[in-house]
Amino acid sequence: MSDYSISAIGHIQSPYKQKFAIPRQPRLVPEAKAKLIFAPEFNREEFIRGIDEFTHIWLLFRFHGTADKGFSAMVRPPRLGGNERKGVFATRATFRPNAIGMSAVKLEGIEYKNGQLSLLLAGIDLLDGTPIIDIKPYLPYSDAMQDASAGFADTRPETQMSVEFTPEVTYFIEQQTQHPDLLNFISNVLKQDPRPAYKKQKDGEQSYGMTLYDYNIRWQVNGEHNVVTSIEKS
Ligand code: SAM
Repeated sequence: MSDYSISAIGHIQSPYKQKFAIPRQPRLVPEAKAKLIFAPEFNREEFIRGIDEFTHIWLLFRFHGTADKGFSAMVRPPRLGGNERKGVFATRATFRPNAIGMSAVKLEGIEYKNGQLSLLLAGIDLLDGTPIIDIKPYLPYSDAMQDASAGFADTRPETQMSVEFTPEVTYFIEQQTQHPDLLNFISNVLKQDPRPAYKKQKDGEQSYGMTLYDYNIRWQVNGEHNVVTSIEKS
């Protein structure tokens, strides 16, 4: 095996502050906005000239949150309820050799502020701080394959989860102006049912928490119903 050395060209500034509750693929939650901040060496317009002609881009990145945990030959895809194993190369699992991930995301704009060049992205599935190792434009004529099928992951994952907010939480969200899409963002994250497979099989009310942006959010799950019970600045 050859060894290569790769350095990040930038990193992601994302509302997802922990792994739990991040959607399992990009574009499942369109309200998930992020910035790609270029590293000083790549902080020049020349590197991205022409990129604004593309609506979507591929991000190649390092699963930095789990890279030190190594990999296994076989993994349990959440799609299969955590009961069945597949070869790591037959999945999009995070625990893989080289810990490299890829996501096709929406490119919403380019920002140049206080000498810092950034790409404005939406529909991301990346943890805050994720190192980006390359960017490529998404090419519909080649990347979108009409005749493709995908076995155990053939369809967009759908759940029947409903989401409700207590009046206090709704009021809090409506009062803040920094993130106009916050209500839909939280709602769509919870509709993905981020719970691990073994929790989904349990009966009774369960309580969970996550941090989005700088908000600590708590919710309760009962059957297929979520109630967001609290939100506060962290
Ligand atoms: N779209 C990518 C791919 O196919 O390579 C990622 C798929 S992976 C199944 C998505 C999960 O990776 C997310 O739900 C989140 O838990 C995890 N994740 C995202 N960014 C990460 C990071 N920087 N380090 C470790 N795990 C991360």
